[in-house]
Amino acid sequence: MKIDVVVIGSGQAGVPLAARLAEAGRRVVIAERKALGGTCVNYGCTPTKTMVASAHAAHVARTAARFGVKAGPVRIDMAAVVGRKDRIVRQWRDGVRKRLQKAPRLTLVRGHARFIRPRQVEIAGERYEADVVIVNVGARPAVPPIPGLGEVPWLDNSRIMQLRRVPQHLIVLGGGYIGCEFAQMFRRFGAKVTVVERSARLLSTEEPEASAALEGVFRGEGIRLVTKAKARSVSGGARAVTLRLDGGRKVTGSHLLVAVGRRPNTDDLGAEAGGIRLDADGYIEVDERYRTSADGVYGVGDCTPGPQFTHAAWDDHRILFDLLQGHGTRTRNDRLVPITAFTDPQVARIGLTERDARARGYAPEAATMAFGEIARAVETDQTAGTMKILLDPKTEKVLGVSIVGAEAGELIHIFGPVMVAGVSARAIVDGEYVHPTFAEGVQSLVMSLDRYAIG
Ligand SMILES: Cc1cc2nc3c(=O)[nH]c(=O)nc-3n(C[C@H](O)[C@H](O)[C@H](O)COP(=O)(O)OP(=O)(O)OC[C@H]3O[C@@H](n4cnc5c(N)ncnc54)[C@H](O)[C@@H]3O)c2cc1C
Repeated sequence: MKIDVVVIGSGQAGVPLAARLAEAGRRVVIAERKALGGTCVNYGCTPTKTMVASAHAAHVARTAARFGVKAGPVRIDMAAVVGRKDRIVRQWRDGVRKRLQKAPRLTLVRGHARFIRPRQVEIAGERYEADVVIVNVGARPAVPPIPGLGEVPWLDNSRIMQLRRVPQHLIVLGGGYIGCEFAQMFRRFGAKVTVVERSARLLSTEEPEASAALEGVFRGEGIRLVTKAKARSVSGGARAVTLRLDGGRKVTGSHLLVAVGRRPNTDDLGAEAGGIRLDADGYIEVDERYRTSADGVYGVGDCTPGPQFTHAAWDDHRILFDLLQGHGTRTRNDRLVPITAFTDPQVARIGLTERDARARGYAPEAATMAFGEIARAVETDQTAGTMKILLDPKTEKVLGVSIVGAEAGELIHIFGPVMVAGVSARAIVDGEYVHPTFAEGVQSLVMSLDRYAIG
């Protein structure tokens, strides 16, 4: 069948692209082999943040005495936690279905899509030939080649969110943002938790100060951290899993979560038949305008190299839509992608870390400030954390900001428009901030740079 556009995957870029291109007059087919909405809605952002909220409620209830509030013993009803999560996931998934149904000229085809030739795709036994094919196939958990892993009932991000009982002792392999969110969540649900991380610190791509702040909180909550530890083998069964680490160390727990990264869903895409070049890790190679090596075929979202976040995939859709409609000015290269780990405190960053800034030849002017210096942090007893700003001394432009603290994921957005506009950090200094808010603390961070100090 001849069609204008085929979109493969109903992820965070694919759905809005398919709907908007159809609304703009093109005949579009979108293929989805599993749940509508992809990772974010079904196995990523939505379910994790819903369960993080339950864990947070447990934590506040358990520690209410610090506010002068007496609460009884906290009991976790895991089935209710999971039920709430499932309801919210269903709600978002339904929203995706309605969005697709609403668009004219758009057909949803359920099934696995595979290239059979450049711009020719087979889905559920039907062949589609299109002028434009957009690949939004996403990624899945990477499975590390650890001997014995195949013989134990390990958990991934999807399976762990279906547990109806709190694990007695959860081992989390991987101290990246997914591993950290689950570690704290399950600790707050009452599990004993051990995080095993290969590098020297949690969230190893973030500022060392950020890692140290989070590690302090984790240890304070009773999470055991085993860093600089490479897993050598796994053994065990349904009741106990033992992870053997290099140096003869071992950790035994009741459950094992593997969160060591993601790999793109490109192995069964027929990329070669489609003329689509993949990099050594299987990611689809794209240029700054999302063009793959095959004419008329574009790659967006987690299956392309780059930051794997919903907002990045969503932004891919905006940029590519404009390019396909012939009025695009932005490219995937000239954008800032903020990040947040939804731990408590949250860990957020925009722009460069100090190490990366120096590697790019900057000699940044830096300031740091403890989150606990913010009045609101003291008043709400959320003093854990630290903030850091890097400025280019020549231009006064912000190079990067890292915030560990309450609502850091919100606060980091103060810097986005300033950085996108390319204006001086003085724009933040000259503004007026409501007291008492966390945001006024962010202004204080900028004002603690020597050049803005008020004595
Ligand atoms: C535990 C976890 C927590 C996360 N938390 C956050 C967060 O808080 N904030 C954030 O920004 N990001 C978060 N992410 C990342 C975020 O979920 C992804 O970056 C985002 O979903 C990327 O979307 P995508 O559009 O690239 O692909 P996906 O959402 O993965 O969609 C790809 C779709 O393509 C389908 N598909 C694959 N191959 C084929 C094929 N051949 N034929 C047909 N269909 C196919 C898949 O079934 C899937 O539905 C999290 C991820 C995880 C795992």
